Amino acid sequence: MKFNRNHSFKYCVAEKVAPGLRRITAQNPGPFTFHGTGTYIVGQQELSIIDPGPDLRTHLNALSESVNNHPVQNILLTHRHEDHAGLASACASQFNATIWAGDAPKALPLHNLGDSPTVRLKQKYRKLNDNSNIEIDNYHLIAMHTPGHTSDHFCFRDDTHGRIFCGDHIMGWSTTVVLPPDGNMGQYIRSLQSLRAFDDYTFWPTHGSPITNPREWILSLLEHRAMREEQLMRTLGEEPASATNLIEQLYPELPLELWPAAGQSILAGAIFLVEKNMAECADITKADKNTVFFRLY
Ligand SMILES: [Zn+2]
Repeated sequence: MKFNRNHSFKYCVAEKVAPGLRRITAQNPGPFTFHGTGTYIVGQQELSIIDPGPDLRTHLNALSESVNNHPVQNILLTHRHEDHAGLASACASQFNATIWAGDAPKALPLHNLGDSPTVRLKQKYRKLNDNSNIEIDNYHLIAMHTPGHTSDHFCFRDDTHGRIFCGDHIMGWSTTVVLPPDGNMGQYIRSLQSLRAFDDYTFWPTHGSPITNPREWILSLLEHRAMREEQLMRTLGEEPASATNLIEQLYPELPLELWPAAGQSILAGAIFLVEKNMAECADITKADKNTVFFRLY
C-alpha cells in the first residue's frame, strides 16, 4: 500500500487546517500514534473538541490557549484509547463541556495531572448511539458507529462541510490495528464498507494528514485485508498454527517491538475465518494468541 507519511505540523500549536477547523498535535509520537494525536477544534464561536488527546499537561495548556475563553460545548471521543481520551475528563472539567462517547462514563479515563487529585468525571456525559445528532456551533455532526478497531469506535460526519472525523478507523499513514477481544476484524471490515458511500467527503483521521480520495483508499484497505486473509489461509493450509507461531512467517520484516500487535492482528484474522466457517479452533470464546487454528477444507 502507498501510505502517506507527509504530514506538516508543529507540536502544541493550533493550526488552521480548513474553514472552522483547527488541529493541535500532542507530543506523544510512537509506533501507533505516528507524530502524535491530532486534536480537532471545531467551530468559530462555540467550540467542540474531537479527541482531546493524551493526558499531557503541555497539550491541555495548548488546548486552553487556543480555546481562548470561547465556550466549549462538547468533547467528542472517537473511542476509549488513552491517546484519544486521556484528557477527556480534564477538558470537560476545565471547559465545563459535555463528553460524548460510546463507552459508559465508568470506563472513561482517570484524570491525574501533577498535584491535582485523581477524579472520575461522572456528570455531563452523553452516550453516543449510531446517528446521534450533536449540535456544533451553527450546524450538526452525526455520529456513525464504526466498531472494529474498538467496539466503542465512532466516526463523526459533518454534512455541511463534507467532512468525516474518522479517529483510528481509517488512517493514511498506516493500517489500523484490530486487537481482540475488543477489536473485531469482521466488524472492522463492515465498518469500512459502510463509509464507502461518502466518496466526496474529506476524511480527517486523528493521526496524520487528511484523506481526500476516500473511495480509492477504502478500496485499497479492503484489498490489503483480503490479501492478509489469503496469506493466513495459505499458511494454515500447510499446518495448524497459533497466532504466535505465525508472526515471523506473515510479518518477516517487522521490528520486534511490534510483534505483540502483529500477533493480535493475526488472531483477529483467524477469529474472522472461524466466524465465516473457513477455519476452526477448540473454543473460539477463549481464543488467544496461543490458540491453535485449523483451516477447513
Ligand atoms: Zn485507537
